[in-house]
Amino acid sequence: MGAVPDDPPPPREAPQMTRVLTGDRPTGPLHLGHYFGTLQNRVRLQDDGMDVLLVIPDYQVITDRDVAEDLLGHTHGLVLDYLAAGIDPARATVFTHSAVPALNQLLLPFLSLVSVAELGRNPTVKDEIAHSRQSAVSGLMFTYPVHQAADILFCKADVVPVGQDQVPHLELTRTIARRFNDRYGPVFPEPEALLSAAPLLLGTDGTKMSKSRSNSVPLSATADETAALIRRATTDADRRITYDPANRPGVSGLVQLAALCQDRDPHDVAADIGDGGAAALKRHVTDAVNTYLAPMRARRAEYAQDLSYVREVLHEGNKRANAIAEATLDEVRAAMGGFR
Ligand code: ATP
Ligand code: MG
Repeated sequence: MGAVPDDPPPPREAPQMTRVLTGDRPTGPLHLGHYFGTLQNRVRLQDDGMDVLLVIPDYQVITDRDVAEDLLGHTHGLVLDYLAAGIDPARATVFTHSAVPALNQLLLPFLSLVSVAELGRNPTVKDEIAHSRQSAVSGLMFTYPVHQAADILFCKADVVPVGQDQVPHLELTRTIARRFNDRYGPVFPEPEALLSAAPLLLGTDGTKMSKSRSNSVPLSATADETAALIRRATTDADRRITYDPANRPGVSGLVQLAALCQDRDPHDVAADIGDGGAAALKRHVTDAVNTYLAPMRARRAEYAQDLSYVREVLHEGNKRANAIAEATLDEVRAAMGGFR
């Protein structure tokens, strides 16, 4: 009897496949906040068989700064971070926003579905305006959540793994999907945010860890750079280490980092350090982070030797994202009254 052939793999566009969309602006290297906030979840969803798309919103870099610096370098860096963390381009799609022009055609109908007052109330927009490097608030900054809605809805995402700061944006995306469907007929699912156990990781200054706030520990930093970054972290004079985020954000942010890297309860980590003070805490965190990231850093170094693979990943991802965007746009135009 001949061998029974394996079942063929399900087609990639199988309708039952849950679609996941999220992404990172190419403004710098990914850090531990990204990893524990969303990247770890993306890899898990991919490994669970979901259709994961990662957008690198290069156009959106100019939302809060006048010019985009080293766009290509940062974009390639993000792809290396993804690959090192376990994103597999054979199953996941990585693309750049600027390479998918059809996606932007969603902006006109979407902008018509939100009011100026709604945009002004968005707490994330307010926070990002406060940290903006621009002298005046641009129309792009004001409409940022609508651009993000286009990035999410163009592929009809069901799930969006994000950090806490993105929740208000996602709420607006859901509103836009609902209003579009009410006005023109059902086209878009209402995507769900997926938060991790660490939706707001603090940086070395005790505020949200951010690529552009000089308070982050990049996944790609060397062990020595990591030690230096953690040595400079803001702590306090109390030698007893506790986990108390509301009252001791600096110390607690560091305790949480170690706890995540060691998969332990932060109170237990703090109890182990006891009365050792900030120096012992920082040594402990540095060791935990460097041990945890070592295999990822080694994989990243290997991928970094051949950027032609990174370019190929983007080329293939852009092709697939364009096909998806064109198909959605056709549906949108038909629903809105048969343009062209
Ligand atoms: P920038 O300073 O350029 O805004 P960022 O560090 O805030 O960079 P983004 O590209 O804006 O990173 O965010 C990418 C994703 O990572 C988003 O889903 C965001 O919610 C998540 N994220 C960013 N920082 C953190 C953090 N400190 N903790 C948890 N999730 C985070
Ligand atoms: Mg951000």
